[in-house]
Amino acid sequence: MSKHTKITFLGCGTSTGVPVISCECEVCTSTNPKNNRTRSSIFLESDNTQLLIDTGPDLRQQLLREKISNTDALLFTHGHADHTVGFDDSRAFCWRRDDRLPVYGSGETLQILGQMFPWAFDETYGGRGYVRAQAVEFSDDFMIGDFRIRPFEVIHASVATHGFRIDLPSGQSLAYASDIKSLPPEGKALISDCDLHIFDGLRLEPHPSHMTLSEACALADEIDSPAAYMTHLSHEIEYERETSSLPKNRHLAYDGLNLVL
Ligand SMILES: [Zn+2]
Ligand SMILES: [Zn+2]
Ligand SMILES: [Zn+2]
Repeated sequence: MSKHTKITFLGCGTSTGVPVISCECEVCTSTNPKNNRTRSSIFLESDNTQLLIDTGPDLRQQLLREKISNTDALLFTHGHADHTVGFDDSRAFCWRRDDRLPVYGSGETLQILGQMFPWAFDETYGGRGYVRAQAVEFSDDFMIGDFRIRPFEVIHASVATHGFRIDLPSGQSLAYASDIKSLPPEGKALISDCDLHIFDGLRLEPHPSHMTLSEACALADEIDSPAAYMTHLSHEIEYERETSSLPKNRHLAYDGLNLVL
């Protein structure tokens, strides 16, 4: 028995993914796999619990690549397409269970999912081949297996969006906020003592609903983060070049990156 949790970046790309369709820029044509980014999602795995956060359009390929065949629940940051449209592929998690797969989100996110995938939440529908989900509106503080989850509101776009503080069996904790322009004081207070922060660091130029790489570093510095990884990256971010310009303990994520806490 280990108390450790493996954190896997299934994807660390922005909504277009990288390469971007029809783009010929140096990052989109790069042969470095760390410049190849599927849509943002992470997977946490301890001895007792597996948890998938978000189901973007690349979910199927991500699960195949990482050989993931089970999760105890799904947890959603928000209802944007780049975090939800792969939801139907979570049917693979339903084949091996009798009960319905718990799907945690805010009321607004669950409403969006219900509109996009009505059959998945319809208890009168369907056989074992389809998604059989149980919508669970999350509270301020709840458990999924041995992970303690505390959602916090972030400023992102016009939809309700959350980040999560997740306390792990080892006693360590992480904060995940993949889509964020700014973080209200309540969120800062909640995550300031986490051991690991994963933040939106979209690109170098300002964006109305995402943080730039330098804004992400500034937030990490403000809360005195001991280790921060930036995700939801666009094709402006050349992995090696930007990594070499980042301060100590500030990193870029890449697809397939594993961290252990
Ligand atoms: Zn996104
Ligand atoms: Zn490009
Ligand atoms: Zn978004």
